[in-house]
Amino acid sequence: MVYLLVLGTHSLRHRFGLAHYYALIGGVTAIMSWVTDAGIVVQLWGITFVVGSTVFYTSLLLGVFVVYVFDGLRATRIIISTVIGVSIMVPLIALVLNFQMKLSGVPALGYVPTPSLRINTASVFATFMDLVFLAIAWEYMNNRFQWIPMGIRAFFTLLGVMWLDVLLFATAAFAGTGEWMSIIQGTALSRLIVSCFAAPLLWAYLAWQNRRWGTQITQRPVLAILKQFAQIKEELTQAQQEIERRKRAERALRESEERLRTLASTDALTGLANRRRFWQAAGSEIQRSRRYGTGLAVIMADVDKFKRVNDTFGHDVGDQVLCELASLGLANIRSFDLLARVGGEEFAFLLPESNLEAAHKTAERLRQEVEASPIRIDQHQVYVTISQGVAVLEPGMDQVEDLYKAADQALYQAKQEGRNNVRVYQGNGNGPA
Ligand code: GH3
Ligand code: MG
Ligand code: MG
Repeated sequence: MVYLLVLGTHSLRHRFGLAHYYALIGGVTAIMSWVTDAGIVVQLWGITFVVGSTVFYTSLLLGVFVVYVFDGLRATRIIISTVIGVSIMVPLIALVLNFQMKLSGVPALGYVPTPSLRINTASVFATFMDLVFLAIAWEYMNNRFQWIPMGIRAFFTLLGVMWLDVLLFATAAFAGTGEWMSIIQGTALSRLIVSCFAAPLLWAYLAWQNRRWGTQITQRPVLAILKQFAQIKEELTQAQQEIERRKRAERALRESEERLRTLASTDALTGLANRRRFWQAAGSEIQRSRRYGTGLAVIMADVDKFKRVNDTFGHDVGDQVLCELASLGLANIRSFDLLARVGGEEFAFLLPESNLEAAHKTAERLRQEVEASPIRIDQHQVYVTISQGVAVLEPGMDQVEDLYKAADQALYQAKQEGRNNVRVYQGNGNGPA
């Protein structure tokens, strides 16, 4: 009946809260303390049941057990301190009562037993250890022996706690007295019997409450700690994966940006810089040239009568000729010069740190080279020549356009004067740069 009272009250916690339950457990603890001190025993079928430990102690265990399983760390702490607190208080109160009776000389309260310091201290100490052990044993069984049915796990946890209690309590309370061994034997046996009786009740209650409310595993300290560890590990792995993913995405983005930039500034046919890039580079070279006072030259080159090449050999061959001319052009400039394809069959050279004479030399060399030997495309031999105009940066030329136009003007003159030649821009009248 006491077991049913304890478990039944616990089952009402969702309606009334746990305070009443703590009170009940405190009351059970008080009665246990009294009947233990009074040494009340019941003889049944020749077996001596020590009522205090058999009934009330087991109820306490069940009571704390279910709180631990269902109500979390805070409630467990409260209920353990309730049990410990009452186990300390009750003998003290009994002492005071007995003292008063002695003073008043009235033995009317003779049924309040005089507490024994040693037995009560042993009891408090053993109870505390039991309840802590209860939590550890339950989680250990849950983790290691998941495959064992819950009822059997509950039984062994109970029995384990009870036997630990026998050992702790009997040793602390009776070691050194003659009864020690026989008490240990007797109580160990009776606790086994009690466990057989209490475990099914506990199992039925756990199963019922589990079905009804579910076990709040996160509230159980040992499991909660394990779960936290697992969560932290999982989060770390996820974070690492996320970082890796972002790094990859960033790299891909950078690469595609790079590709786009290259595409946007490259001529698709020849792979040379395009007009846009030439314009940008020329802009910065003009700045540099102004700052350091170095020369800057531009050569504009146009293939002579290129239409004829197309007409004679076809557009595809024309394309390949343009590519070959691009290679020839590249082979004739320095690493920091820039060659761009600025129109259909028009090329522009940007030559930093070059004066008119040097640029003219370069253009002339290229002209001779193009003229000297035919370009071979498949079985064809294509003879082409180029006309070129050279200009250098002069005062008053502030924009790329000024320099570009100057070179173009010289090119125009080259065309006018018979093609396959190099002409130099005659200056805007401002003298050399
Ligand atoms: P010139 O410059 O000596 O006055 O004569 P041209 O025949 O080269 O003159 P024009 O500038 O009028 O013609 C350029 C020709 O270049 C027109 C076109 O057929 C050809 N052309 C332009 N771009 C390409 C190209 O990308 N591929 C090929 N195959 N031909 C091109
Ligand atoms: Mg042209
Ligand atoms: Mg041309």
